[in-house]
Order: sequence, then structure tokens, then C-alpha cells
Amino acid sequence: MLELLKKSAMEQSRALKNKEISAIELTQASLDRIKSIDDKLGAFNSLTEETALETAKQVDEKIAKGEELPLLAGVPLALKDNMNLIGSKTTASSKILENFVSPYNATTTQKLLDNLIPIVGKANLDEFAMGSSNENSAFKKVHNPWNLNKVPGGSSGGSAASVSSCEAALALGSDTGGSIRLPASFCGIVGMKPTYGKVSRYGLIAFASSLDQIGPFARTVEDAAALLEVISGYDPHDSTSLKLPVENYRESLNNDIKGMKIGVIKELVSEGLSPDVEKAMKSAIETYKSLGAEIVEISLPNLKHSIGIYYILATAECSSNLARFDGVRYGHRTPEAKNLLEMYCKSRAEGFGPEVKRRIMLGTYALSSGYYDAYYKKALQMRRVVTEDFLKAFSQVDALISPTCPNTAFDLGARTEDPLAMYLTDIATISANLAGIPAISIPAGFDSEGMPIGLQIMTPQLTEAKLFNVSYKFEQAHDYYKQLANI
Ligand code: GLN
Repeated sequence: MLELLKKSAMEQSRALKNKEISAIELTQASLDRIKSIDDKLGAFNSLTEETALETAKQVDEKIAKGEELPLLAGVPLALKDNMNLIGSKTTASSKILENFVSPYNATTTQKLLDNLIPIVGKANLDEFAMGSSNENSAFKKVHNPWNLNKVPGGSSGGSAASVSSCEAALALGSDTGGSIRLPASFCGIVGMKPTYGKVSRYGLIAFASSLDQIGPFARTVEDAAALLEVISGYDPHDSTSLKLPVENYRESLNNDIKGMKIGVIKELVSEGLSPDVEKAMKSAIETYKSLGAEIVEISLPNLKHSIGIYYILATAECSSNLARFDGVRYGHRTPEAKNLLEMYCKSRAEGFGPEVKRRIMLGTYALSSGYYDAYYKKALQMRRVVTEDFLKAFSQVDALISPTCPNTAFDLGARTEDPLAMYLTDIATISANLAGIPAISIPAGFDSEGMPIGLQIMTPQLTEAKLFNVSYKFEQAHDYYKQLANI
């Protein structure tokens, strides 16, 4: 069974169609694997066994009747625990939502169910998706499947660890500043953030609404492309959703990239890289040259401001989004309050963890009168400047490449005492959220300790097909993606 779980989602889908295995057996195998290894990993907050097996049953019935299956039907998937699935707890890994049961399905979840994709469980994350190491979960840490003493990256650490350890073939995450790409990079898998507006966020617990985007995790580029086809599309429930047809990304995966111009982001390769990441980056450049691409050095002069901009905008937006958790409408309410104000204060003080509180305070400060112009407004203006750097770059090249992170997965606990060091982990990923462009992390080698290294690729807005194409060509030129964590 493990052999089958190790296969890609598309291969698992073929095995189902060829009746080598039933969907019930495959889903059960995924659930069994979670039960046998997840004590060590901590990737799941809860299992949704009943829903998963019910979906699998429907797949088997379709197969028995000889009906055609929707894309990825029957392939087990882990859902980040900040997306609603009716009847399951959606906790955002926060005490304040510890017992919150989803009253409706997120649009993405509904699309998964419509395609008969069994959702095996709700994946652990940093509380409210705030973090880079998954150590901010109020319930438990996630461990990296390649080395259990290391972090899996965050905030979608559970999603990434579950796919990397073959507990599931696929997962969904959310990416506000790198939360899909960073854990994909640390766990040696593929993780992709689509163009802002491609995927509906209806039913996703909002962190920073002008940056949040849902995207796929998988072990191959083709699987990630297929999963994005399933979840993307216009949704009237999300006012930022784009009215565009759903594309087929798989048909152009293998297009020749000869003559394509690929830009190497100067600011992300010149300093601060670990020697192994630097080596992997040089080798990635050679790969693209050998595939016939032209390599161009590109400067994004304002990229250095992106962390500062992000930590003003994201905290400002979260301070507003999280105001709804007040002890009245959702989740935890303190049993001890003497009056209304005390009820609000104590419920929030007891329910939110330290990182979430830090962000609410920072964001409230940035939005307060007297500071709004100096911080929030300035950050909005600078966001535009960073976006223009990208527009200029894309007038010269088709795609931009960089490491997903200057370093590989670090030891658990190594950065928890130093929030700034933690924030710097996202130096390469945040700007894609500011500019709203699609970006991916794909496996690009290993460091001297055997930990995975990720290559980030970015393309202009709404050019996902090209992004997958450029990624697929790199993936197929190596066998990194075939190497799996030994757990
Ligand atoms: N690590 C970043 C943060 O903590 C990004 C998180 C995310 O993308 N959700 O805000």
C-alpha cells in the first residue's frame, strides 16, 4: 500500500481508473498511514474520516457503473485547518476557535467535494496562518518529515508535511506572504500561490485579505496544476474573485522553453544565502541554460522593502479581520467576566496566542490616527512601487527565479525567541503577494544534511500556464521530486 501512496496524484488516479485499487482502499490506506505516523509529525489537527470514506464510496460507485470520473476523483487530500468543511472543526490552530464547527463549505472545499476528492483531515498550521515555522500552532508543533528535529516551514506546515510524508497525495494551503511556498521548499515538494483572485477565499478564515490566496501542494508539478484547475474559477461569494474561465494547465506543461528569457533576481542571490542554497541556485541556472532558455540578471531595487511593507499591511488587515473574534459571535468566551468589556478583553486574552496578539497590536498601531499616514499609507504607496519593479522586470523576461528561502529548514526552536529573524525567512516570497503575481516553489536539490532546497519561480499575473510550464521543464530535468522523505 505504501508504494501506492508514494505515487503521484495522477498515478493514483490512473490506478483507480484501471481498478488496481478501489477508492475506499486508497482512502483507508491514507487514513491508516496518518494514524501510524502522525504522532511523530503532528501534521493533522483532526481527521475527517467519515466524509473521506463517503466521498470514496461515491467514486467506487461511479467506477462500477463505468461512468467517467472528474479530475483527481478518489485521490486523498489534506485541507489546511483554516478552510471550512461542513461538520468539521475549523480551528485555524487557535484556542479561540478550538470548538468552532464549520457551518458551511468553503468554495474550494465544495469544489473538492464536487470532484469527489476525499478530504482526509484538517492540517495543522501556525495560528491564524501567522508564522513561518508552524511553531505558532496553539495545539502542537509540526515536524519536518525529512528530519523530525527540524521545522516544516509555515504557516501551512501540516499541509506540506502530510504530502511530503505521503499521508496524502495532495493538500491545500493558503499563502499570504509565502505560507505555501516556504513549507513546500522546506519539505521538498511543490507548492503554488496563484494570481490574486484566481481562487475564491469564501470560507477561508481571513488573515490579510488583500494578500491571502489559496493554492495547491503536491509532489509533482502536474499534480499541482491539476489541483489548481479543480479549485480555481469565478465565485460570486468572493468580491475579489476574477471572472475568467478555468484553464487547462496540463496541456502546455511540456512546451519547449527554448528562447524563453529567465531573469535571476540579483537581490535574492547576491548575499545571505547558505552555501548549499547558493550552489543549488547556480545549478538551476545551468539547467535552464541547457533547456535553451536565456538567462538575464534582473534587479528589483525595492524588494528590500517588502518585509517592512508586508508587516505593516498584513498586521493592519489582520487587526481588523480578527476583531470578529470577540467572545460573542465565534469560539471561546471567558467564563469569568463581570461586565461586557471584561468579557471581550478576557475572551481575546485567553483565546489568542502571543504572535497573534503581537500582530493585532502592531496593526492597530499602524492604523491609529496620527500614524496612519506615516505607516499604513506609506506602506500602500511602497507596495505600488514594488509592483512596478515587477512590471518593469516582466517587460524584459518571461519568468523570474530565486531561491524560495535563503536557507533550508532550521531546527525546531531556533528562531522562536527572535520574531525578526523569523520574519526574515520570508524575504524571497512576500513580494509575490504584494504584486499579486503567481509563484511556485519546486524541489531543486538537497543541502549537506540532506534537507530539501526549493527553487521559486514567478511569472506575470494570470500566466499560470507559463509558470507551470517553466516549472515542469525543470522538474523533468532532475529526479529530485522522486526522492521522498524516509519516514
Ligand atoms: N510567514 C508570513 C507571516 O507570518 C506569511 C504567512 C502566510 O503566508 N500566511 O505572516
